[in-house]
Formats: sequence, structure tokens, C-alpha cells
Amino acid sequence: MTCTSTPQAEERPQQRAERDYDVVIVGGALSGAASAVLLLRQEPRLKVLIVEKAATFGRRVGEATVEVSGFFLGRVLGLTQHLNEAHLVKQGMRFWFFNARTQSLSECSEIGGRYLSRVPAYQVDRAVLDEEVLRRAQALGAEVWRPATVGNIHLAPGGNQTIEVRRQASGGAAPEGGEQPWRTISARWVIDASGVAALLARRQDWWRPNLEHPTTAVWARWTGVRDWDSLELAEKFPEWALACHGIRATATNHFVGEGWWAWCIPLKGGDVSIGVVFDQRFVTWPEEGPLGQRLKDFLKQHPVARELMVDAQWREGDVHWRKNLPYYSTTFVGDGFALVGDAAGFMDPFYSPGMDWISFTVWSSAELILAEQRGEDLAPLIAKHNRDFTRSYERWFRAIYLDKYEYMGDFDLMRQAFLMDLGLYYMGVASQPYKRGACALKEPVFSTPPSIPFFHLIHAYNRRFAQIARARRSRRRWGEHNDRQRYLFQGYTFAGSSAVPLLRAMAGWGWLELKEGWRSWFGGSRSLFRGGRTRQGLEQKETNPPRQWTGESAPRS
Ligand SMILES: Cc1cc2nc3c(=O)[nH]c(=O)nc-3n(C[C@H](O)[C@H](O)[C@H](O)COP(=O)(O)OP(=O)(O)OC[C@H]3O[C@@H](n4cnc5c(N)ncnc54)[C@H](O)[C@@H]3O)c2cc1C
Repeated sequence: MTCTSTPQAEERPQQRAERDYDVVIVGGALSGAASAVLLLRQEPRLKVLIVEKAATFGRRVGEATVEVSGFFLGRVLGLTQHLNEAHLVKQGMRFWFFNARTQSLSECSEIGGRYLSRVPAYQVDRAVLDEEVLRRAQALGAEVWRPATVGNIHLAPGGNQTIEVRRQASGGAAPEGGEQPWRTISARWVIDASGVAALLARRQDWWRPNLEHPTTAVWARWTGVRDWDSLELAEKFPEWALACHGIRATATNHFVGEGWWAWCIPLKGGDVSIGVVFDQRFVTWPEEGPLGQRLKDFLKQHPVARELMVDAQWREGDVHWRKNLPYYSTTFVGDGFALVGDAAGFMDPFYSPGMDWISFTVWSSAELILAEQRGEDLAPLIAKHNRDFTRSYERWFRAIYLDKYEYMGDFDLMRQAFLMDLGLYYMGVASQPYKRGACALKEPVFSTPPSIPFFHLIHAYNRRFAQIARARRSRRRWGEHNDRQRYLFQGYTFAGSSAVPLLRAMAGWGWLELKEGWRSWFGGSRSLFRGGRTRQGLEQKETNPPRQWTGESAPRS
């Protein structure tokens, strides 16, 4: 997997003898297990231990890949056959809009592909996928302690890290005698793949809430969701059914509203993952009743969800919520540790960037550890890694997510934004690993100099759409085309010809500015966020940061 080929440096045997493992990985889900796979495939002599708290993986969010994560899972981890057999091939993204005039599914405006997608992506059941990746890590030689919990970690830059671990009994898989006492082990490297627990970032005081984006998610897996491509719906809405020549059901379908969106992701076997994410400044979440019922009631305001979920039932024990979603770490790696996946930060699930972030953080962290094996000087690599990922998080968030919830529910504005967001992602991000190979994963989004003008471009048009949305709201024109519009496009590829629809979309933005954008050119549209907007800057640390709640009972907006 390496992108350079420096000769291997032999470590003194005594150095190795002083520690229990070369690498200890905290968390054996996708980020942790993938890290082990990359390391052991390249350097089988490494002694790798994975410590995983859960005896078995339950289902978890992170079920839709996009093109980069599709590449990472399929072509880097080598899972294409597994993905085809145990999961579903994804058919792009679709968006469904509504307003006061939409009474039925067919009246809701739609954005999506007319045909099937052309670059692989998948809808994955994470309980199945993560077990498979962990199994592969084990097959390559990783030792797995499970269920076992990592407690304190003492970092020693340049030396051996010490990690407290406690194993629990689970069937026949763990040592006899129930819970074992805490044990201290040593390793040259610790990879924190503990997900939202973000063990190292929180303990080392690197963890920061992203206060500019107060979002909450509520989700469940459902049975009895209607099939989008069924004869029943085709008979009820014949023109609607004829309009799309591909498959709607296996797309990530988004129901969108004012300040919120919901995903509808099918899983292999028939269950469907449906959940909502809302901006806490826009949406007041219902406070009474079982959480699954509240989720269903909330979604029923949207005619498409109403139609699809009429007989849907959430699975008991599989209803979840998380408040104050985004956060980040101010440090990503050091001489002896690396943070990967959610342990390094989280932005927003819109457009499913989570596993792209995993792809970049896991690849780059494994590269760093392998660079040490090759005898390279770590200091400049560590500095570059921290700089690249700090910039990537900040720019990615500012370009794509900041203020998105102000306009994502408006058909006209979201259509423009989606065409440009997706086209630029295809040209600048997704095409890179497909054309240049996995080495492109060492360049996280917006971390390279050529990407900076594109960051400014995306940042600019997203800000403008948010401003236009505010102006539309104050003129009561927001969402006026959310009914009876259908924009079904051919989809992007990595060919140069895809620049044509992208340029057309940019021309559309220009036209929108001339037609109505001028109303907000001179600051004539204030944010509708209650209490005004926060402009804390990502580096500021609150003395009393909002807690990040997560669980199965009651979020309050
Ligand atoms: C609402 C929502 C929707 C999302 N949708 C998508 C999507 O569609 N597509 C996408 O790509 N991403 C999505 N994401 C993001 C995605 O869920 C995450 O990026 C991904 O699951 C992170 O994987 P991970 O391996 O880093 O962490 P996790 O999957 O959280 O795994 C962490 C592991 O560490 C273990 N662990 C934790 N603490 C300890 C400890 N002390 N000792 C031992 N083990 C420990 C846990 O048991 C767990 O198995 C979504 C996120 C949210 C919140």
C-alpha cells in the first residue's frame, strides 16, 4: 500500500522485546479493523492487538457509502465480493421535497438519477460488514480481545505507550471467570478507533464540540416499509413510476424539510434504516411518546414518508438518538498514537461522508506507522498529517455543511447545490483514487493547494444559497417549487464530458443570482436562527461545552 519505497530499517530486537505489541487498536469496528488490515498486509511481522468492547457488533449508522468509501471498501480492503453478496449496490442519492400543496408522493418534487449509477457504492449492514473486516484482520494475524475495554492510556512520545485493558467473559470466547482485573500492556503505537467515545481526544483534552452546527439525529431500523419500485406504487402513480428508468429503492432516498432531512436506506434482507437529522435552531422535536412513534409522527408530515411508512414498524430496541453531532480533535497523530474514523472527528451525515473520513484517516495513519517501519523521520510526517486533517475538517465543514440546513429543503436551491457539490466531488475527490490509486487517500479533502480555489468556490455558493433562502423566507417564497418538479439527470462520471453538466449547473447559479440573488447581495437577509448565529471559530474552546448526548430515550431540541 505504500506510496514510496524506502528500504526497511531493522529495529533493534531489544526495543521490540521491551513491549507487548507493536500496535494496540482501541475499537475493532470498521476504522480499527481496517487499520489492522492495512498494517498487516504491508508488514506481517507487526504484532497487532485489537481491543473491542462489544462481544458482537449490532447494527449502527454509517450504512451508505459514497464513491471514495466505495473504493476504499471494495478496492483497498478487497471486499467487493462480500459487498455484492451480503449488502446492496447503491443507486445514488435522491431527494424528495414538499410544501403546502403536496398531498401525495407523486406531487412531491424530486431530484435524482434517471438511470442506474455508474461508479460503485453500497448500502451496508454495519453489523455484518464490521464483523467481516474484523475477521479479515484476524486472518492476517491480528490478535483480538473481545469483549474487552480500554481504560487509561499513558502516552510516551517516541517510546512505548501503556494501555490499561480489562477483558470480560462472553460465552467461550473470553477467559474463564467473568470480568478480569485491569491489566497494563505496552505498545509502540496506539490507534484510537473508539468512534464517538473518542477516548484519546477526550482524555487528552483535544476534543472540541463544533458549536456552529447544533444538529441532532434520531433513527431506527424498520420493517414493513413499502417498496419504492413495487407494482402497487406503479399502479397508483403511473407517471411517477415511468419517469425513472433506474431503481429508486436502493438509492439513499432523502426526505427533506425546513431545517431537517431524513434518510431512507434499504438493508439486505428487507429492513430499512430511516432516521432524521435536524438543526436544533429550526426544529422543535416532539417530546411525548415512544421515540420510534415520535420519529414516525415527525416524518409523516412529508407525503413521501407518509406513503412509504404507512405500515412501517420500528424494531424494538433499535431506536436511537444523538444530540450535538459534530466535534473534532485538535490533534490527529503524534509519535506513538493515531486517531482514526469517528475518534478523530465528525461533521454531519448529509451526503454520507463518514466512511470517506474513515478512508482518509485510516490510510494516512497506517502510512505513518509504516513509515516508521521503513526508518523514515516521523516529525515532518506527523506535522503534515496534523496540518492536513485540521485543514480538511475545517474546510470540508465550512464549504459543505455550514448553513446547509437553511436551504436544503428548497427544491430550486438544493438542486443547484447538489449538482455542483456532486460534480465537484466527482471531479476533484472521488476520481482521484480511481485514477491514481489508493495513494490519493493520503490527501484528505481540501488539504492540497490545487483544492483551495474549489474550497472557496463551494464555500461561496453554499453561503449564497443560504442567503437566498433567507431572502425567500422573508418574501414567503421558500419552497415554492417543492411540488410537481422532477429533475432526473444522467449522473456524473470521471470523464471530461461530466464537466459539461457541472458548468451548466454553475451557469444556473449565475442565472439565479441575476434573477433573484441580487436581493440579498447587500446583506438584506438576516439569519432566521433563533438568537442569531454563532461564529465561534473552530479553534475556540468553550469553558462549558455542550455535552454530546446519545442513547435510546428522549432528545430535547
Ligand atoms: C445519524 C448518523 C448517520 C450516519 N450515516 C452515515 C452514512 O450513511 N454513511 C457513512 O459513511 N457514515 C455515516 N455516519 C458516520 C458513521 O456512522 C461513522 O463514521 C462510522 O460508524 C464510524 O466508524 P468507526 O469505526 O470510526 O467507529 P464506531 O463504528 O463507532 O466503532 C467504534 C468501536 O470502538 C469500540 N469502543 C469504544 N470505546 C472502547 C473502549 N474503551 N475499549 C474498547 N473498545 C471500545 C466500540 O464498541 C465500537 O465497536 C453516520 C453517523 C450518524 C451519527
